[in-house]
Amino acid sequence: ISVLVVACPCALGLATPTAVMVATGKGASQGVKTVVFDKTGTLTVGKPVVVSTMIFSHIPIQEFCDMAAAAEVNSEHPIAKAVVQHAKKLRQQYGSNSEYIAEAQDFEVHPGSGVSGKVGDKVVLVGNKRLMQACNVSVGPEVEDYMSESEQLARTCVLVAVDGMVAGALAVTDPVKPEAEQVISFLRSMNISSIMVTGDNWATATAIAKEVGIGKVFAETDPLGKADKIKELQLKGVAVAMVGDGINDSPALVAADVGMAIGAGTDVAIEAADIVLIKSNLEDVITAIDLSRKTLSRIR
Ligand code: ADP
Ligand code: MG
Repeated sequence: ISVLVVACPCALGLATPTAVMVATGKGASQGVKTVVFDKTGTLTVGKPVVVSTMIFSHIPIQEFCDMAAAAEVNSEHPIAKAVVQHAKKLRQQYGSNSEYIAEAQDFEVHPGSGVSGKVGDKVVLVGNKRLMQACNVSVGPEVEDYMSESEQLARTCVLVAVDGMVAGALAVTDPVKPEAEQVISFLRSMNISSIMVTGDNWATATAIAKEVGIGKVFAETDPLGKADKIKELQLKGVAVAMVGDGINDSPALVAADVGMAIGAGTDVAIEAADIVLIKSNLEDVITAIDLSRKTLSRIR
């Protein structure tokens, strides 16, 4: 039973067999009727890459990507890493061997929407439409078209504003995990329904959900909103498992009857969870539920 580690070992001690720890951890996985999945890093691999760029200004593409990277270089977000990687790759293509990315001044993180900072004498914002709106940057029809085009392809569109105008956009793609679809379909055969909750936009979330066979989606939710969704389901008398990897999933992992953290996820998520899927493979969601059902019947 090497796949499971219980994050709240209670007073059971290390010698207790893992199977028993799973069943007694919170004692609820055997009654789980719904599994709520986070999107980024849980259903998807969590390593997005930039697959397309569109410029809406006179800024040359390399300069544009360097500015976006400067704003993102101190962010921990997977999208930020993709933007920085892309700027470096572009430099190589243009024959430069410098990997140096300037750092923005006055760097600020806007959780669930993006980052901002000053690059040289320019104010740069990198993030979603919500960030642009919050900073009074208008998003024109040309930009809207590029966004919806990207989102229908299950990509996340990253807008870059320079001095109050959208100067360009990058589309990132984060492939779904190879086992995701089969796991969702197997859960359905166990009479367990699957739901997705994500901070990403509705169009991208719906496209990813369709790829893995999830019919019910809650998008554009902040961390507390994710936990509220869990509580709503519990009020209907359903035992809920939550699977997530990020800091933004930890309130939901705590609220769930069974919180399952992706092993490759953040420490905050791992600490908030009851079970850690140490191989980061979604098949172990089934193993965990199955195991606790069997164990419980044996204990009885
Ligand atoms: P998720 O629930 O999918 O893990 P988050 O709550 O972290 O997503 O972020 C929600 C959305 O905010 C992202 O899909 C992205 O559009 C935007 N965002 C957040 N951080 C960044 C960043 N550093 N750079 C660009 N966009 C970001
Ligand atoms: Mg995530």
